[in-house]
Amino acid sequence: MNTYYDIAVIGGGPAGATFARELAKARPEKRIVLIDEKPRTGSKVCGGLLAPDAQKVLAQFNLDLPKSILADPQIFDVKTIDLASGITRHYQRHYLNMDRASFDEWLLELIPENVDIIRGRCHSLTNCCPGEVRVEVDNDGEKSVLFADQIVGADGGSSIVRRSFFDSPSKLYISIQEHFKDDGGDMPSYSCIYDPETSDSCSWTIRKDGYVIFGGAFDIKGGREAYFRQKERVENFLGHSFGEAAKIEACLLTSPRRVRDFISGKDGVFLIGEAAGLISASSFEGISSAFLSGKYLADAFASKNDPEKILKYYKRKTSKLRLKLLFKIPKMKILCSPLLRKIIMKSGICSIEKY
Ligand SMILES: Cc1cc2nc3c(=O)[nH]c(=O)nc-3n(C[C@H](O)[C@H](O)[C@H](O)COP(=O)(O)OP(=O)(O)OC[C@H]3O[C@@H](n4cnc5c(N)ncnc54)[C@H](O)[C@@H]3O)c2cc1C
Repeated sequence: MNTYYDIAVIGGGPAGATFARELAKARPEKRIVLIDEKPRTGSKVCGGLLAPDAQKVLAQFNLDLPKSILADPQIFDVKTIDLASGITRHYQRHYLNMDRASFDEWLLELIPENVDIIRGRCHSLTNCCPGEVRVEVDNDGEKSVLFADQIVGADGGSSIVRRSFFDSPSKLYISIQEHFKDDGGDMPSYSCIYDPETSDSCSWTIRKDGYVIFGGAFDIKGGREAYFRQKERVENFLGHSFGEAAKIEACLLTSPRRVRDFISGKDGVFLIGEAAGLISASSFEGISSAFLSGKYLADAFASKNDPEKILKYYKRKTSKLRLKLLFKIPKMKILCSPLLRKIIMKSGICSIEKY
């Protein structure tokens, strides 16, 4: 391992792994280090559904998904439940159900060997002199220090890079998920649940490899209580108990609300993926944006050397993506409005009939 790098990537999820892979291929002479705290922290808290947009980017990368990453079962519709009105509807979906931990490991394995990968937690970033950042890493109590000319923050919703150099997103939820042994009961394989009494966002159930995941997004204040209250309300509505939880997990979840929530970078520090605010406010789909922003920043580094020019190029390339995500904000407001949701669901528009 070196101590001095051209670029330190903090976070090895879809955004960081894509950036490191694409830049190392395009500019093998660059000294790149990627720091990721998994697997110590377990897998990313996620629904693990690969949306068509993300499938399209994998196709653009010429990457075929190994079968070992897929989870059981593959699901073709979402049951949408509105606890406020009691209306339920089914909508066709085209996601791939996958094991998120295996997916992230596969993406890391695709990174060329000229990138150093450190399994540890970055716990401090400081500007030591112009154009150089000191990065402190903690690996199970063992501390190490390295220096990098440029930093790429790919460290998701609770990004230390974003907190150290930029404003936090205006809206962060706490997302809580529990995993229950699947008893084969008539729990929906995939559902999207709205319950304005406990959250202004949505929740979900997903069947995965012998387990049923129940999770949702809640206000950080009082989130745990709201989660358990909602779980009880969902059980009452479905007439089915989830049973004893095998695992509970939680993380921060970004919900962009305004243009300023999307941050690209400044002064040699860049953000990609969810750390940059690039996630859908309406569905929380974030893997496709993580892929694209990682690729666009790698292209910027491959073709420019000056940090200002890299930033300009990266901003230009991501402008369409930011615009697309901006349009998800009114969509989220419509879906999370009890009245508008009731009207849409009652109309049955776009829903599918179940036989
Ligand atoms: C509950 C939930 C369900 C979701 N479901 C879906 C879904 O089904 N489909 C979908 O497309 N999107 C989903 N998303 C969104 C999606 O998971 C993210 O948008 C996407 O993973 C973002 O990728 P990323 O690489 O930017 O960040 P992440 O995937 O969050 O990766 C960040 C990486 O940085 C590492 N890290 C963080 N802090 C540090 C640190 N200090 N030091 C070192 N490493 C660090 C983490 O270990 C992690 O590996 C969901 C999000 C949540 C919270």
